[in-house]
Amino acid sequence: LPMNTSSLQLPASHEVPSFTDGFAAGEALGRSLALPLLQASGAQGSDGGPIDPHRAAGDRQVAAGGKLNAEELAKREKNGLDLWDEVLAHAREARFPTGTDVFLFKFQGLFFVAPAEQSFMCRLRFAGGITNTAQCRGVADLAERVGAGHVDVTTRANLQIRGIAPAHTADVLMGLVELGIINRGAGADNIRNITASPTAGIDPEEIIDTRPLARQMHHYILNHREMYGLPRKFNIAFDGGGRVSTLEDTNDIGFVAVRHEGKVGFRLQLGGITGHKDFARDTGVLLTPDQCVPVAEAIVRVFIEHGNRTDRRKARLKYLLDDWGLEKYLAETEKRLPFALARVPLDTCVSRTAAVDRIGHVGVHRQKQAGLSYIGIVLPVGRMSVTQLRQLSAIADRFGSGTIRLTVWQNLLISDIADRDIAEVKRQIEAMGLHWSATNVRAGLVACTGAAGCKYAAAHTKRHAMQIADHLDTCLQLDHPINIHLTGCHHSCAQHYVGDIGLIGTRVGEESVEGYHIHVGGGYGAQQAIGRELFRDVKAEDAPGVIERMLRGYLEHRRDEEECFHDFVRRHDNEQLIQWFTSTTANA
Ligand code: SF4
Repeated sequence: LPMNTSSLQLPASHEVPSFTDGFAAGEALGRSLALPLLQASGAQGSDGGPIDPHRAAGDRQVAAGGKLNAEELAKREKNGLDLWDEVLAHAREARFPTGTDVFLFKFQGLFFVAPAEQSFMCRLRFAGGITNTAQCRGVADLAERVGAGHVDVTTRANLQIRGIAPAHTADVLMGLVELGIINRGAGADNIRNITASPTAGIDPEEIIDTRPLARQMHHYILNHREMYGLPRKFNIAFDGGGRVSTLEDTNDIGFVAVRHEGKVGFRLQLGGITGHKDFARDTGVLLTPDQCVPVAEAIVRVFIEHGNRTDRRKARLKYLLDDWGLEKYLAETEKRLPFALARVPLDTCVSRTAAVDRIGHVGVHRQKQAGLSYIGIVLPVGRMSVTQLRQLSAIADRFGSGTIRLTVWQNLLISDIADRDIAEVKRQIEAMGLHWSATNVRAGLVACTGAAGCKYAAAHTKRHAMQIADHLDTCLQLDHPINIHLTGCHHSCAQHYVGDIGLIGTRVGEESVEGYHIHVGGGYGAQQAIGRELFRDVKAEDAPGVIERMLRGYLEHRRDEEECFHDFVRRHDNEQLIQWFTSTTANA
């Protein structure tokens, strides 16, 4: 597979921060602290070699009468990080993996997505969701040569290539490494893409630039084998207190920048998993920036040792927290640290001074650097063709700094555009068939992979999301942005519980046609709320009309033009909303 070697030239971007950038801003809250090293576990086996903490944890659960689940047994049989020879052999013979190898291949970022498709999806990895035009061109080349010709932005500010035939998996992995993209552990029971504020380093309101922390965490994982093969997947996010949220409260660990007594620190939140209707909870702990990564390491190590390896449904961090309580978990974490965790009342910390801008990831916004702006581009349900990705890269090179920032809203930002060039950038974006307008319903549309590429899906979420957007475009003009999230199953990859309107796929009626349960009132950050179910068993074909009636009912009955959909549905009970939403006539 010939690679375009010109793709390998890195741009001369001023965007890439050094390892220690941003730390100075947050000098120790209590005391000056060099990057603390974790106390080594020091555990040795009888042969003097290191003990595998995962195997030891599984052994303890078996000794206590438990039965390891199938994935745990597979991980004990072979390490998913060591499958290179098998990946090569499968590629040589154009074979798909079978049995638990399907699960283990995800350690290599390779998802065999049958029965949805007879092909692989490959998930990548970018620290804080930040990439550059050289990498994007290389990814476009790969997606064109051996993929389906498009690239998807995920809800973890990441990229995915779909439609990869089994003969090409090794080519893709080699191509990614040659581009500087190491995607090990992008799936399965691993720490997923580290997310951070997408406007880190350019946001006029931010408390701290989170890019160095995201990079440090990213590389810590890549360089520690024991950080792979956890009881289940694990999410970590860094929020710098700027205008654009990274949905940190939906992560297992959320670090939230604050000011305390004139210094910068991070509140530690734990246990977010909105698919299980829980947000991350504030732990009462305030960290210096330098402490965040070591504390994350220690938290993960506690999870490795004590997370449930018998029941997959209870294997996420939330359930260990529910079982133990917060204080016990923090005490176990502290045992693995060379410093004490500072407990500081939440109300003594000052968080972001400006409210989160719900549309800060779309449209043109000024940067902290004088004369420069970033533009957030709407990618309907996160998908762009390889041609569009190349065109966006060309814009970022010509008018920006060669940096492309992916967001958890399934879109991307191009930063560092001079004011004089904004009009031309907008024109070029429109010319390629994309948008930058926040009131376009596509700006708030989020959809998981769905039945086109995921075996768990009850519905074709991306297709239905586009049908909803197409329908609303023809009949409604919204004056407030609205988030509509479609997720295909209870795993809730598109986080339907935090959308203004959230749809979860289901099968409807005796014919078992595709459909959705529809929720309203979800939110995050200051508007944190789990959406509540309003309609059950709506056929997918009826969903556009139902959502149109909901939005018409809102426009008709809202208090005034200032009231957004979220506030409106929070102010009324289901009975009232259903009456209004079913008495309004839709165009459909
Ligand atoms: Fe698949 Fe379910 Fe995730 Fe959608 S939410 S991508 S259907 S696992």
